Amino acid sequence: MTESAAGSAARQVVTRFAPSPSGHLHVGGARSALFCWAFAHGRGGRFILRIEDTDQKRSSDAASVGFLKDLAWLGIAWDEGPEYGGCGGGPNGPYFQSQRLDIYNREFERLIGSGHAYCAFDTPAELEAMRADAKARGVAYRYDRTRAVSLSKREVDALLAAGTPAVIRFRTPEGPITIRDEILGEATLPAGEVDDFVIRKADGFPTYHFAVVVDDALMGVTHVLRAQEHFNNTAKHMVLQDALGYPRPIYGHMPLIVNPDGSKMSKRDKDKVLRKAVKERGIATPPGGCVPAERWTRWLADSAVQLDLEEATALAAALDVTLPEINVDDFRRSGYLPEVLCNFLALNGWSPGQNIEKFDNAFLAERFDLKRVVKTPAKFDRVKLLSFNCDAVTGMAPERYVALSRAHGHAYHPAFMARLSDAQFDALAAASQPRSKTLEDLFRSNRFLALDDSEIRWSDAKAVKKHLIEGNPSGLDHVRALRGVLDGVAAPWTSAALEVAITAYAQSAAEGQLGKVAQPLRVAVSGGTVSPPIFDTLAILGRDSTLARIDRCVAAVTASATS
Ligand code: GLU
Repeated sequence: MTESAAGSAARQVVTRFAPSPSGHLHVGGARSALFCWAFAHGRGGRFILRIEDTDQKRSSDAASVGFLKDLAWLGIAWDEGPEYGGCGGGPNGPYFQSQRLDIYNREFERLIGSGHAYCAFDTPAELEAMRADAKARGVAYRYDRTRAVSLSKREVDALLAAGTPAVIRFRTPEGPITIRDEILGEATLPAGEVDDFVIRKADGFPTYHFAVVVDDALMGVTHVLRAQEHFNNTAKHMVLQDALGYPRPIYGHMPLIVNPDGSKMSKRDKDKVLRKAVKERGIATPPGGCVPAERWTRWLADSAVQLDLEEATALAAALDVTLPEINVDDFRRSGYLPEVLCNFLALNGWSPGQNIEKFDNAFLAERFDLKRVVKTPAKFDRVKLLSFNCDAVTGMAPERYVALSRAHGHAYHPAFMARLSDAQFDALAAASQPRSKTLEDLFRSNRFLALDDSEIRWSDAKAVKKHLIEGNPSGLDHVRALRGVLDGVAAPWTSAALEVAITAYAQSAAEGQLGKVAQPLRVAVSGGTVSPPIFDTLAILGRDSTLARIDRCVAAVTASATS
């Protein structure tokens, strides 16, 4: 146990997740939040959520709400933090950094008073010149405090009173800085590596380094568990803690989550998939105008240009391609279950050992420790995630599957939901559950059910040829004959009644080979070759739609065969 760990052993464990609210919650961030939650909860501690919105240009309220929603959906409940869905509140608020400026200002004063910080009035051009000079001399740039600290208090006050733009810099002490990390071990930054960094920006907001240190201390955080990209920042945080007289939390820096090829999991992955589809299909103009013409041209011409999320989503929908999920809300939209995503994320960088792979958050809290967190990047295995999700979807109680599918439909497929009655949806769900890997599968493979009868097209030439035209009798001959059989099925029009009638027909007209008649029927009523079992499909469609679609199919295929 490190010295700081021993010192805080008696204290209640407090962890925090501190996202900057720009964009969406990345799976890597969600994994950090999950580990922080599990670490605290497994030790009777508290988990705090704090929104780090001091970068005014990049932060947005919508992004903050998105983060809260995603964490709540994952079941990562925070004991303290912004109030949302029954979570949050607490004695250490506000939990948005933009609302804590008074606190930071008080601490700035303290640091200036004790000589640990000073105002600096360098213009951007002056700073640029210093950087250029260092480059010309072939040395690493380090801020030179000489001029700033030579100003008297009166001169500083006069400049401030005149409205001269100013930042506050921390007077970094000389000497090497040793970071102790529970996951990565120890690393020492040589003297001079950390220069006098800015702690208050010219807009009056604290920098990340300052706010994070103040808040962690005032909120009583004992363990800072965060992404490895912040490891080097820890040196700055430590010197600030010393100057402010704060206790040192225990640090654990967690590995990145990356694609199997080692690349970063980022928005760019979505762009790549779209570029490939556009190129392969030779698409020259944005389908349905889903991307403004000028943006489209620039995007095609320059691989460094990225579509924004709305444009990418619209283009993916128009091309009917699935984008790789990167953010938590992508996975929700794709029909992954939150408990599966948590289980899977926990295995990215940690494992409970003993070949245990499937577990819930309660188990994770009980078992999670920093010793089993790996140092190297975790490769995100989508195939495995999908197989976990498939097991959970097919294995859950049917009532739960129906309820979750219904909620998913209302959230993402309102038009589909509006077309189906409750009874139709229940029947569809019952038929779909055993064949679904995600909640989205039901909607993706049954679009034909939500179309108007007049909207069905038989444009899949291969399917039409194979299942309707070829053979003697042809599929279309069977469909024609079945029309009469189906019309004669007595009410109620149920899957069981249809099975009796269609099987009898197959016995008499297709040597008992059900496939010979089921597939032509499927193509006739759906336009394609994929649907739930045929009896269920027809039962869900209802008598009128089934007969209407058969009539339209016979007419359309006959017309195109004779034209
Ligand atoms: N706001 C920082 C981020 O989103 C938090 C880093 C930290 O946990 O200290 O990366």
